[in-house]
Amino acid sequence: MTDTIEVRALHKRYGRNIALHELDLRVHPGTVFGLIGPNGAGKTTTLRTLVDVIRPSSGTVRVLGEEPRHGGAALRRRIGYVPGELHLEGRSSGHRLLAFYAEVSGSAGSSASVLRTARDLADRLGVDLDRPVRTLSKGNKQKVGLIQAFMHRPELLILDEPTSGLDPLVQREFLAMVREARDAGQTVLLSSHVLSEIQQTADEVAVLSAGRIVAEGDVASLRLGSVRRVRVRIGGSDAAAARAAFEKLPGVEGLDVTDHGEGVQLSTTIEGAIDPFVKALAQHEVQDLTVEEPDLEESVLRLYGDRSRPADASAPPHADDAPRERRRRAGASATGGGIDEQTGAPRTRRSRRGRRH
Ligand code: ATP
Repeated sequence: MTDTIEVRALHKRYGRNIALHELDLRVHPGTVFGLIGPNGAGKTTTLRTLVDVIRPSSGTVRVLGEEPRHGGAALRRRIGYVPGELHLEGRSSGHRLLAFYAEVSGSAGSSASVLRTARDLADRLGVDLDRPVRTLSKGNKQKVGLIQAFMHRPELLILDEPTSGLDPLVQREFLAMVREARDAGQTVLLSSHVLSEIQQTADEVAVLSAGRIVAEGDVASLRLGSVRRVRVRIGGSDAAAARAAFEKLPGVEGLDVTDHGEGVQLSTTIEGAIDPFVKALAQHEVQDLTVEEPDLEESVLRLYGDRSRPADASAPPHADDAPRERRRRAGASATGGGIDEQTGAPRTRRSRRGRRH
C-alpha cells in the first residue's frame, strides 16, 4: 500500500540558513505520526511543505499519492490542516465560518452532515459557535481551527502544535479525537514540543533537531520518556554533603545544589531508573519534591546530542529572506499553494474573499 506521506531528501533553505537537511519521512495509512522537536527544529517548515504553503529547495514530497504543488483543490479537500499560528479575526460567527468551510471542503459528505459533525465537535470541545470568531479567546479560536480541520473527516490530518492554548481537559478531549480519527482509518501527522501528548497518541515518532531527524521509531524505543527533571528541597543537610550523596548516583546529570535557609535545593536530570535517587532521598527530610518531563531540548540533546548538532548551526539567517518568504506565502495560491496559512482551511477564490468574514 502507498504511504500517505512520502518525503525524500527534503531540503529547505532560507538564504544561508538551512531549515531542513535532506529529510526523509514516511507516514503509513491509518496511523498517528508524531513529529517532535524543540523550537526552531523545522517542524512547521516540514508541515508547510506538505500543504504547499512553502516549497522545498530540493527533494520530493508526495501526499496521498500526489505532489502537493500539483494536487490542487481535489487534494486539499482530502486534507485537514491546522496551522501553527492560527488567525481568525473575522466578524462572522463560528457557525457561519464553518458553514462556509463546509461548503468548500465537504466533498466527503453533504454540507449538512459536515455541519452536524462540527456542532458535535464544538460541544465536545466546549466552544460557543454563535460568537463572532474575532471575540473568542486564543484557546477557543484554536478549537474552531481544530473543528475546521476535523469536521469533513479528511483522509489526512496535518496538525501543527494543535494543543497550543488549550487547557488540560480540552487537550484530553482532543487526544481522544485523534485516536478516534485513527480508528476510523484516517491518518494523522501532528507536531509538538510536548512529549507527553505524543506519547499518548502516536504510533510512530520522528525527533527533529536543527532540521535533521535524529531518531525515529515507536515512542518506547526512543527512550525520550526515560529522562526526567527532578527538583527537591531537603532539610538537615548542607550543599557539599548533598552533592556528595547524589552526584554519583546512576543516571544523575547536571546536578545543581544551592543552600537555602534550613537545608538545600537540588535540581537535576535523571536518565533511566529513578529508584536509586529515591532511595538516597529517603535518608533525608524531604520538604518538597517535583518530578517532571524535562523540556524536549534537554531530552533530545541528552539522548541524541551528537547527531542533533547541525553542520552549519552558526550560519545566520539571510536578512532578506523572511520578507521574501512572507511574500511567497502570501502568494501561495497563485503559485499553486492552496491552503490558507491563517486559518488552515482550503483556499479558493471564494475563500480569499471569505477572509472578510
Ligand atoms: P517552533 O516549535 O518554534 O514553532 P519549528 O520546529 O516549527 O519551531 P520552524 O518554524 O520550521 O521550526 O523553523 C525552522 C528554522 O527555519 C528555524 O531556524 C527558523 O528560524 C527558520 N525559518 C523558519 N521560517 C523562516 C523564514 N520565513 N525565513 C527565514 N528563516 C525561517
